[in-house]
Amino acid sequence: MVAKVIPLADLRRLASTPPPPAPAAPFEGDLRDALGRPLHDLRISVTDRCNFRCSYCMPKEIFDKHYRFLPHDALLSFEEITRAARVFVSLGVRKIRLTGGEPLLRKNLERLVEMLAGLRTLEGQPLDLTLTTNGSLLKRKARALKDAGLQRVTVSLDALDDAIFRRMNDADFPVADVLEGIDEAHTVGLGPVKVNMVVKRGTNDHEVVAMAERFRGTPVVLRFIEYMDVGATNGWRMDEVLPSGELIARLGEVFPLEPLGAAAQGETAARWRYRDGQGEIGVISSVTQAFCRDCNRARLTTEGKLFLCLFGTQGHDLRALLRGDHADAAIGGAIAGIWQGRSDRYSELRAQLPPAPADGARRVEMHYIGG
Ligand code: SAM
Ligand code: SF4
Ligand code: SF4
Repeated sequence: MVAKVIPLADLRRLASTPPPPAPAAPFEGDLRDALGRPLHDLRISVTDRCNFRCSYCMPKEIFDKHYRFLPHDALLSFEEITRAARVFVSLGVRKIRLTGGEPLLRKNLERLVEMLAGLRTLEGQPLDLTLTTNGSLLKRKARALKDAGLQRVTVSLDALDDAIFRRMNDADFPVADVLEGIDEAHTVGLGPVKVNMVVKRGTNDHEVVAMAERFRGTPVVLRFIEYMDVGATNGWRMDEVLPSGELIARLGEVFPLEPLGAAAQGETAARWRYRDGQGEIGVISSVTQAFCRDCNRARLTTEGKLFLCLFGTQGHDLRALLRGDHADAAIGGAIAGIWQGRSDRYSELRAQLPPAPADGARRVEMHYIGG
């Protein structure tokens, strides 16, 4: 067996960081990036910590007891996150997803949800406010999150079989508890609950049919995600990706499927329904069918760096702006300027790119940027 090289340096620091953005004149109008894409969706990572060690996201060999997570004062406070969110909303954001790391590990998260739930879109509507979680603490927290104003949750679940679940997440946690969390989320009204399954060929692909069977005919919408080459630590290999086309063909042999109409613009999942009327599933084909041309998503890391693409190597330091003496409108102007310069479309270009970024910079890790 070839030993894995464990990098000693802090992976976050290896990414080159541009100078902090300067405050700018307030932005007015219809904000578009260099490829004409609007900014509608903001993912906010509230912690870089997690109680799981999914091999595709935070492999245990690297994220071990020596790994230094962000110190508390580096994290954006709830007030700073809410202020940043308000500025993004003033630029057209309508949907906010809280993520991490494991977002439910952030203390008093329901307080942040309550603060965000008070924001209104440019059209005066409440935000579409959601959260992605590994489900381990969901049973305990679902009610408080709902009461605070959260609308929906997405739960990540990669297998129904305990042994395979453990192989995927390297944590000693029973599947039954995640299933109870899903039920509780549904009961308190955090639905329709979506369940995301990352499929790794050779590890959990034989669980696809069992997962489909478990959630068919229930209000839960199951989505299969192609294993992605995000970050620089998961040892990604194309032969471990199960292309969505193959997955649909395999599943369709057991439960006949038909495609549903095109998803809403910016929607990442292609939708299919069971021909026998037992509901729908989604496939997220980030590797084999890129959807960059509709990508209207920005990501804010736990320490306030703005990333324009999941495969970015650089974040723009919004924390410096938020902690400086600047008006919201000036921060909005700075963010608008950054968005206008955005031309990222990594997934579309993947096949033509060298295996690592040409400038030696490292791609940001998923647990840090938020999925
Ligand atoms: N801890 C929470 C969870 O797992 O739901 C939220 C953060 S996690 C980074 C967000 C999503 O990213 C999860 O659904 C996870 O399965 C997905 N993800 C992480 N690494 C991935 C990879 N290499 N390929 C595809 N999806 C990945
Ligand atoms: Fe944790 Fe989510 Fe990453 Fe798994 S995918 S290690 S649960 S942050
Ligand atoms: Fe968006 Fe980047 Fe993913 Fe393309 S690769 S869909 S631009 S996050």
